[in-house]
Amino acid sequence: DAARKPLVAGNWKMNGLSASAPEFVRIVGAYQGALKEVVDLAVFPPATLLTSFATATRGVGVLVGAQDCHPEASGAHTGDISPEMIADVGGKAVIVGHSERRADHGETDAIVRAKAEGALRARLLAVICVGETREERDGGKALDVVGTQLAGSLPEAATAATVVVAYEPVWAIGTGLTPTVDDVAEMHGFIRARLSARFGPEGAKIRILYGGSVKPSNAAELLAAADVDGALVGGASLKADDFLAIARAA
Ligand code: PEP
Repeated sequence: DAARKPLVAGNWKMNGLSASAPEFVRIVGAYQGALKEVVDLAVFPPATLLTSFATATRGVGVLVGAQDCHPEASGAHTGDISPEMIADVGGKAVIVGHSERRADHGETDAIVRAKAEGALRARLLAVICVGETREERDGGKALDVVGTQLAGSLPEAATAATVVVAYEPVWAIGTGLTPTVDDVAEMHGFIRARLSARFGPEGAKIRILYGGSVKPSNAAELLAAADVDGALVGGASLKADDFLAIARAA
C-alpha cells in the first residue's frame, strides 16, 4: 500500500559481537538514495551493540533499536533496560512481545502492553509481535489467538507513527517453514480489520509486518501479499547481503 512505507527490520537476537560492526556498517552504507526512498530499514542488535550501532547510523536513517525493554523508566530491576535508556544511546525503536520472550520469559499480553506503553513514553517506535503456534493453527484458532494478543498487547494510544505490528507465526520462526501467501493475506487482512475497528482511520495506517523464515528467495512473494507492509527478519538479517536483498524486495 503506497500510503504505508514498507519497513524491513532485522532482529539479530542473541547474535553479534563487536566484530559484527562491519556487517552493520555495510547495511548503513547501502541504505542511501533509491533504497531509502522506498523502504524504512531497522536493525535490532543485542543491547551490547546498541550504542555503537546507533552511533554508526547517525545521519543515514537506518533505525537502530532494542529487542526488549522494561516497562518502567528506572528502578530496582536487575538486568533490565528501560525505554529511556534505549533512547538515551540513540535507539529509536524496540521490539516487544517477541514469541521467544513470551515463551522464555513468560511475557503475557498485559506485560507486552506495559512495555509498549513504556516505549511510547520514551518516544520509541514499538514493534509489537503477535502470532499463533502450530497447534493453534492446526486447531483452527489462529485468528482468535492473534485477535486476543492484539487486543491485549496494543496500547490505547497506538498510532501509525508510534507502533508497528509484526505477525510472526511461532512455527515459522527459524524453521524454514512459511504460511502460504493466502494464509498471510488472510491474517494480515484480519489484523487490519481489527486495527481499523479499534483505532479508526489511524488503524488503517499502522504497518503490519510479516515475520518467520523470510529470506531473499521468498521475500518478494510474501511482501507482495495484501496488507503486508514489510518484514521482521531473524536469521537472514545477520548477513548484510541477504538483509539488503530482502529490503530491495519490499
Ligand atoms: C524472528 O524471530 O523475528 C524471525 C522472524 O526469525 P527468522 O527470520 O529466523 O524465522
